[in-house]
Amino acid sequence: MAVPEKADIAIAGGGLSGALIAYRLRLTRPEVTVALVEQGPSLGGNHTWSFHASDVSAATYKWLSNLVRHKWPRQAVIFPKFHRVLETSYCSITSSRLHDIVAPLVDEGLALNADIAEVAPDRIRLRDGAVIKANAVIDARGARTSDRLVLGFQKFVGQELEFVAPHGLDAPVIMDASVPQEDGYRFLYVLPFTERIALVEDTRYADGAALDREALRRGISDYCAVRGWKISKVIREEDGVLPIALAGDIDAFLDEGVEGVAPAGMRAALFHPLTGYSLPDAAGLAERIADQDDLSGPALARFAVRHAASVWRNRSFYRLLSRMLFSAAAPDQRYKVLQRFYGLPRSLIERFYAGQTHFGDQARILAGKPPVPVSRALGCLGEEKYLNRALAARATTQAQGG
Ligand SMILES: Cc1cc2nc3c(=O)[nH]c(=O)nc-3n(C[C@H](O)[C@H](O)[C@H](O)COP(=O)(O)OP(=O)(O)OC[C@H]3O[C@@H](n4cnc5c(N)ncnc54)[C@H](O)[C@@H]3O)c2cc1C
Repeated sequence: MAVPEKADIAIAGGGLSGALIAYRLRLTRPEVTVALVEQGPSLGGNHTWSFHASDVSAATYKWLSNLVRHKWPRQAVIFPKFHRVLETSYCSITSSRLHDIVAPLVDEGLALNADIAEVAPDRIRLRDGAVIKANAVIDARGARTSDRLVLGFQKFVGQELEFVAPHGLDAPVIMDASVPQEDGYRFLYVLPFTERIALVEDTRYADGAALDREALRRGISDYCAVRGWKISKVIREEDGVLPIALAGDIDAFLDEGVEGVAPAGMRAALFHPLTGYSLPDAAGLAERIADQDDLSGPALARFAVRHAASVWRNRSFYRLLSRMLFSAAAPDQRYKVLQRFYGLPRSLIERFYAGQTHFGDQARILAGKPPVPVSRALGCLGEEKYLNRALAARATTQAQGG
């Protein structure tokens, strides 16, 4: 595949965010030429990205819907104390669908198997020396590590499984936390694609990022056995270690990016602080970028940095909850925080996942006796204090050679 030589906008990384930005630009700004540069052989890698329909506005859903591979009218959660069905639609986009739809639209602007060595405000340089010149460059190369963010982790292995007989589910089980609690908050996640095929994930909200694939695979097969689902085939497997935001200095984080280049997706810390999910944010940013009058490099970079900083600042309440989940609750008791949350009204839960809780919601979420020790919950209150403590602890560990 030939590498494009120039474009109005060059996007580094053809994952979720980069591909959605390219897609939205092609849909609404066909006069703007786009280069989309991805190191893998296809857009989006090997993912199933899900979201609650209520995470995005009706207008956003309209343009995303073409990418949606599966949609269910409801979803369920299961906790030791109760089982609840929520009449909130749940949707999944698959990376293969994303590729099949976006790749032809980007057409000659698409560069696959293209390993980026460097991004700069006016170009992307590949490791083989090729250069793509652009008026504006967007960095959507996925998550990067930084000392400026204090994170917990949502780790999982998911297997798309075919069963010998129908599994009997007609709606996703977003969390089944009735399973033994291990390595933090543990739950199983099940998306029933057809009557005999489902994606089953074993997920842990854990302090460390290490992924024990074998343990998670065992968790999946044990769960299927308990539910009486006999596996005939493992169709596909995916895994992830998603960041859960506890605290951070967003300005310092964004300053670590390349000046004059617009950060996008996980690279801009655009993810839900308590789930690590980024699809609604990625769609929102794609829309906003395509709506900009001025798509010159400096303007786009300024806009993207301001947008990322403002989204982060607006989510301090979610980071407080993340800190309570990770720092106040003992690992095997973390499920109680979610169990209590899922007893709240559906509209509040929907606003929570959409990142739109208002003051009344926040008061309601925190009201009553917390499911964690009060003294430890109080210790989580100040983000700056928490951040400084975490940075100091990290510096001590590093000084000790840890
Ligand atoms: C397995 C998995 C499942 C997930 N499920 C969900 C979900 O259900 N819902 C949800 O909202 N979120 C989900 N997430 C979280 C988050 O939405 C995803 O991580 C999402 O893919 C992040 O989008 P992104 O564009 O920022 O990064 P990515 O999708 O990771 O895209 C970055 C892209 O940049 C490319 N790249 C990186 N470096 C280079 C380089 N040097 N040269 C060229 N290309 C490069 C990568 O190959 C990649 O394609 C999931 C994450 C994982 C890992």
